[in-house]
Amino acid sequence: MSGIPTHCPYCALQCATTLHPVDRPGAVEVQPRATQSYQGGPTNMGGLCRKGWTAPEVLTVPDRLTTPLVRDAAGDLVPASWDEALDVVADRIRALQTEHGNDAVAVFGGGGLTNEKAYALGKFARVALKTANVDYNGRFCMSSAAAATNRAFGIDRGLPFPLADVAGAGAVLLVGSNLAETMPPAVSHLEGVRGSGGLLVVDPRRSATASLTEDGAGIHLQATPGTDLALVLALTHVVLQEGLADTAYLADRTDDPDALFRSTASWWPERAERVTGVPAATIRRAARALAAAAPVHGGAGAFILTGRGAEQHSKGTDTVTACINLALALGLPGRLGSGYGCITGQGNGQGGREHGQKADQLPGYRSIADPAARNHVAGVWGVDPASLPGPGKSAVELINELGTEAGPKALLVHGSNLLVSAPRLASVRERLASLDLLVVADVVPSETALLADVVFPVTQWAEEEGTMTSLEGRVIRRRAAITPPGEVRSDLAIFAGLAERLGSLPFPTDPAEVFEELRLASKGGKADYSGITWERIDAGEALFWPVPAEGHPGTPRLFADGFATPDGRAHVVPVDHRPVADDLNAGARLYLVTGRLLQHYQSGAQTRRVAELDAAEPEVFAQIHPRIAAQLGVSDGRPIRLRTARGSMILPARVTADVRPDTVFVPFHYGGAGAVNELTNDALDPVSRMPEFKACAVDVTVAGLP
Ligand code: SF4
Repeated sequence: MSGIPTHCPYCALQCATTLHPVDRPGAVEVQPRATQSYQGGPTNMGGLCRKGWTAPEVLTVPDRLTTPLVRDAAGDLVPASWDEALDVVADRIRALQTEHGNDAVAVFGGGGLTNEKAYALGKFARVALKTANVDYNGRFCMSSAAAATNRAFGIDRGLPFPLADVAGAGAVLLVGSNLAETMPPAVSHLEGVRGSGGLLVVDPRRSATASLTEDGAGIHLQATPGTDLALVLALTHVVLQEGLADTAYLADRTDDPDALFRSTASWWPERAERVTGVPAATIRRAARALAAAAPVHGGAGAFILTGRGAEQHSKGTDTVTACINLALALGLPGRLGSGYGCITGQGNGQGGREHGQKADQLPGYRSIADPAARNHVAGVWGVDPASLPGPGKSAVELINELGTEAGPKALLVHGSNLLVSAPRLASVRERLASLDLLVVADVVPSETALLADVVFPVTQWAEEEGTMTSLEGRVIRRRAAITPPGEVRSDLAIFAGLAERLGSLPFPTDPAEVFEELRLASKGGKADYSGITWERIDAGEALFWPVPAEGHPGTPRLFADGFATPDGRAHVVPVDHRPVADDLNAGARLYLVTGRLLQHYQSGAQTRRVAELDAAEPEVFAQIHPRIAAQLGVSDGRPIRLRTARGSMILPARVTADVRPDTVFVPFHYGGAGAVNELTNDALDPVSRMPEFKACAVDVTVAGLP
């Protein structure tokens, strides 16, 4: 069957698909594409979730942006030509930078952009705008895991092994990952471990993933929100105290085994039970099950995988570090069939963090503060290294400064919907409204685009060529199957058009040309793409970075011979539990936890426009425990009010014993009055600068009562 091979536009599983243009302008049909090895589409094993099956609908939604829009004197967004819109933006940028300096203009990227767009965005900020103010929404996604793996292993590749390796394990510990809803085809890789009773899930909810542990398939550790770190410290304590650790591995491959013992010595399971609510006996049972599968005990292998539930906390980096320490205690990282990994969420969440759209990074996953990195990248770009700005501010810190006296006066947003996805939305709305210039490039009029002064209509997945990097670090091709509608252009054309008007170097608009430059810029970096060519990918090669030369086969598995640290050893970083930043108090007695639904992706800007998905989950809701519902006297579907220190919202109750009595769960895919990020806390992790989306104190009352 012919067709155009590509990948789903949504999550980092990047399910392989084949597109077939149909007899309707701009429309395609999608079919899953499968092979049984990682040479093809192993991550989905022939499956697609409902989001993937219905993705073609987003190409032709009625309110698809098809022409640039510029806000007129009456305050309305009205159609404009590309030249008019680019001229307006360039003129305003020039005026603002002349008056306030280069950092008066900021750029905000997205983890769904192709590698080429992410690379061009970072270069555009540093070379054309000469601003330090660039960051992206990956800061809200996996930045805590990235920070933890960089400091432990010296490198951050979400899964340092092919996902298919997980299928052969004897035990898998999932900490804060609901992949049965976020990436359902990945569940096929858990069938083996479920069969042996080794699926261990840490989640405050009985999520779809947690329910996979039932009927003898594993253990659900239903911890109090914000206590994953204490739980993992206790699991490690059991492993060390019961003589289950791989002591030879610790001595040979880590820098400080004693630190591991010291940092977990006081976390006996009974203490952890008081903090987490998970029975001490369950903690011991889980630790022993995980250890039994470790290679040191002759097991089939064990994996520890983290998701946003562990990472989106003000202690997210330390929680992931505790998971890494547990993996080291069991001798897992770098062993075939075992390991630690982060389940990256956004479609190009991995590639998006490698090519320079982060505040502190240059392409190749290099530090912008490293003189050698600056010299190399400046050489590829043909600019003076001294002209490159230094590190900028992280996403929340950048947003909080928008429109202030010392902060940026203009913001260019590509591939991000801040008015749904950022924490403490009232403040975000105020900051965006205070800007002199807000520019948004998107495919639909998202909540953020509707606030903009200029809106650029851009291409989406089936309309463009490029590359993405999956959660495994595998570089894959996105291919165009159809012509984009109306005046739609690539984000690359925006960077090129503005750079030309600002008198900068020419920026290529051909993604293949951009990729060739990206290869050179990444050469010698941690994420080295220099040996990857589109021809090699098109020929069916499975190329996992680093690929340092064209003859190099790629690196499906990292750490077999050592870690990417100066001494080649994994670094044990001692960590300890601390409470959530906005903890329970007399006025707010429950924890608010946010998360995802099967039917929607991220801010919902795309999936809320798909009829089937919208019909299945059309509006926000709050899961509350029957005991809380009884105390309030509310039944299923009745409106309740949630109030936190940031604001309040009214939404229907969904009464279910799937949540703990101390927990309220609300999905975050909705905008306007349904946006739960009105309530979430922007307290930051001190290392990753991740905001604390996943836990804050909330008061629940019957709507209408004070
Ligand atoms: Fe696959 Fe994720 Fe797309 Fe679903 S959303 S089809 S799991 S890539």
